[in-house]
Amino acid sequence: MTIPTLPAAYLEAVTALLGPAEAEAFLASYDAPRAYGLRLNTLKINPASSAADQLSERFALRPVPWCGTGYYYEESTRPGKHPYHAAGLYYIQEPSAMSAVELLDPKPGQTVLDLAAAPGGKTTQIAAKMAGQGLLISNEIHPQRARILAENVERLGIRNAVVTQAAPPALSARFPLAFDRIMLDAPCSGEGMFRKDPEAIREWSPEAVELCAARQWDILQDAVTMLKPGGRLAYSTCTFNRRENEDTIARLLATYPFLRLIAEKRIWPQREQGEGHYVALIERDNEEKSGATATIPASRLPHTGRAGREREYGRGGRGGRSGQAERSAAAALDSFRAWAADELPAIALPAGGTPLLFGEALYLLPASGGLALTPEHLTGLKVPRAGLHLGDVRKGRFEPAHALAMALSAAEAAPRLWTLGEDSPLAAAYLRGETLEVPADLRGWHLVTLVCGEGQYPLGWGKASGGQLKNHLPKGLRH
Ligand code: SAM
Repeated sequence: MTIPTLPAAYLEAVTALLGPAEAEAFLASYDAPRAYGLRLNTLKINPASSAADQLSERFALRPVPWCGTGYYYEESTRPGKHPYHAAGLYYIQEPSAMSAVELLDPKPGQTVLDLAAAPGGKTTQIAAKMAGQGLLISNEIHPQRARILAENVERLGIRNAVVTQAAPPALSARFPLAFDRIMLDAPCSGEGMFRKDPEAIREWSPEAVELCAARQWDILQDAVTMLKPGGRLAYSTCTFNRRENEDTIARLLATYPFLRLIAEKRIWPQREQGEGHYVALIERDNEEKSGATATIPASRLPHTGRAGREREYGRGGRGGRSGQAERSAAAALDSFRAWAADELPAIALPAGGTPLLFGEALYLLPASGGLALTPEHLTGLKVPRAGLHLGDVRKGRFEPAHALAMALSAAEAAPRLWTLGEDSPLAAAYLRGETLEVPADLRGWHLVTLVCGEGQYPLGWGKASGGQLKNHLPKGLRH
């Protein structure tokens, strides 16, 4: 690949950082082939299962040393194009980017925030570690990217994540001292992307580095405000300069004496197989000594601007927490239960949680031990996904959501399964949105699943009648 000429100021900075000999090895790494990685989704498959063996063989997987569920794959095997990708069995992720969540090490039952989360590499890694227990808030500021994040959360079958689309101050005003773990994978100057994305080289300049550092500093203030005493924050970037990495962290520690640096890790492309990453792990003292409890400057209070069209919660009555809204949500949950009892009696209804209605769409806001998340927390926020989307109530009838399909195991949907063999061309046909032929006596909702090893994994819903399985894959996901 021809990459644009590296800016002189960048070359100087790299030489100052690494010394001339290693800088040469670093620069030579631009000509080396890049590493491709994927992470197994342990919400769906066990790394010791026959399904994992099958993936390992098909994609020639080799372990990533710093991530137990991470693997390098052979580019020519194209796992991103395989129906297993649509089934959410893995997430394509740059290998060095896997290091940050490993360091953060979130646990099941915790309350976790991923503050700059799209497209979802770190969120899906966090969710896998939480194993469906606790609450994950995944936030992304940009609407388009927040939508992609929500799709990835659904594809991987994550039940306990709320996807918000907010600027960090709007979250810190709502959630002071709320989180056991915070991931801040900050927007950065992207020096680690130069090999993957030459556009990043064109956008780089010493001024851009300064702008990024200023923005990172701003976002960090909000992250600190939201961190619980005793909680941990992982700050990461895919850039190499000290300004956006060590210097920013040094400034943070100097400003907030109740923060401590627990670990700092860098991955360099000339030393390891990966594009490069920086991560710092910070802990907040349990005892607040310096009077530095989270105070919220007025400028950081929630935005009260005009309500956006897209799923802004709680404005204008509909979806708000009036008694009427609560009753409507409870009635919608009843129709879900009635539907499940008829169509899929083996479904284990998600325990706890609060039903929420956005128009026709019924969500289950996850229950969390630590943070008692209430619908009021979401008032005025754009929420592309308020937990698990169970389905839509249309004219009194319940229609299950694609997100629900992806969050189910085959056992929960049995016997209503329509299973496709691992190399069946019908999997691709289903993913293109085609209707499948089925026996004439097959009726009702079926979970279309794909075989991998000895397991079967959902691709989406189909509804059978008259010898046809009508395709209920959302139009936007057909390809
Ligand atoms: N964590 C993601 C993952 O693993 O897939 C990658 C995140 S990317 C490095 C940084 C994200 O920060 C981008 O999605 C970008 O839209 C978002 N961002 C940009 N400006 C921001 C701001 N001022 N506050 C919060 N996030 C911002």
